[in-house]
Amino acid sequence: MIGERLTTTPKNYAYLKIAEGCDRPCSFCAIPLMRGKHKSTPIENLVIEAEKLAANGVKELVLIAQDLTYYGLDIYKKRNLAELLEALVKVEGIEWIRLHYAFPTGFPMDVLDVMKREPKICNYIDIPLQHISDKILKSMRRGTTQVKTTKLLKDFRAAVPEMTIRTTLIVGYPGETEEDYQTLKAWVEAMRFERLGCFTYSHEENTHAFNLEDDVPEEVKMARANEIMEIQSQISWELNQAKIGETFKVVIDRKEGEYFVGRTEFDSPDVDNEVLINASKTYLKTGEFATVKVTEAADFDLYAEVV
Ligand code: SF4
Repeated sequence: MIGERLTTTPKNYAYLKIAEGCDRPCSFCAIPLMRGKHKSTPIENLVIEAEKLAANGVKELVLIAQDLTYYGLDIYKKRNLAELLEALVKVEGIEWIRLHYAFPTGFPMDVLDVMKREPKICNYIDIPLQHISDKILKSMRRGTTQVKTTKLLKDFRAAVPEMTIRTTLIVGYPGETEEDYQTLKAWVEAMRFERLGCFTYSHEENTHAFNLEDDVPEEVKMARANEIMEIQSQISWELNQAKIGETFKVVIDRKEGEYFVGRTEFDSPDVDNEVLINASKTYLKTGEFATVKVTEAADFDLYAEVV
């Protein structure tokens, strides 16, 4: 029933599913078969759900869908994510709204105007790009190319310069040659994503790619994924070093050992960086926001003190 959902996450944030299913043809993915076609939840229902969540103490909405980019096309006959965001920012008590799982093809650029204009919309986007070699993108049936994807990222950064971009990649897809992998590696080095996860391809039954030969040996897949993550660790370390001395608003998710563990608007729960604040020096309340200054930075996490 609308708005009657239970929150299984800590009280300060909740996932808000804005659509179910997916209409894309990605070759490696069984979700469209399992979950059916894309079905957007109407804006008014989502607003009611957000209001109930806010009344229960939720301050951050993590919007999820298999494909955020497609939101609205089925029920409104147009891409309507920007309008949904405009409605959700009006919900009292909600302070942060973040976006997970945008598909690169047909991304509605008006969302970036809302992100820039509305302080409640986190300057953050999760856009799984999977690969960058044109040959692999074509076989994956992603409907895009290296040139188009790189332009999209540049447009994102031009529209919202402070935006953190998260992506996920797959290595070891059928037919991925050393050359394809080197193309991906060079692109990861050049793009300097703020957040990145790299996974090895897994050959799933009932997917289009299952008809292809799973021909990249497991150890090669692993080595490629590890190398991409090593490159990313270095990039993340460099980006984090630049934050020393800077001040951020963080939400405190929990206390763990000697630290309060917080996140900035640039970090999603569970997958991104955390901000650790020494609990012996300060008392902070879980679920509340605090302003902190970064004192130290590791590969993925920041250390900070309250200002
Ligand atoms: S990978 Fe994502 S966009 Fe592609 S079919 Fe699966 S759920 Fe849809």
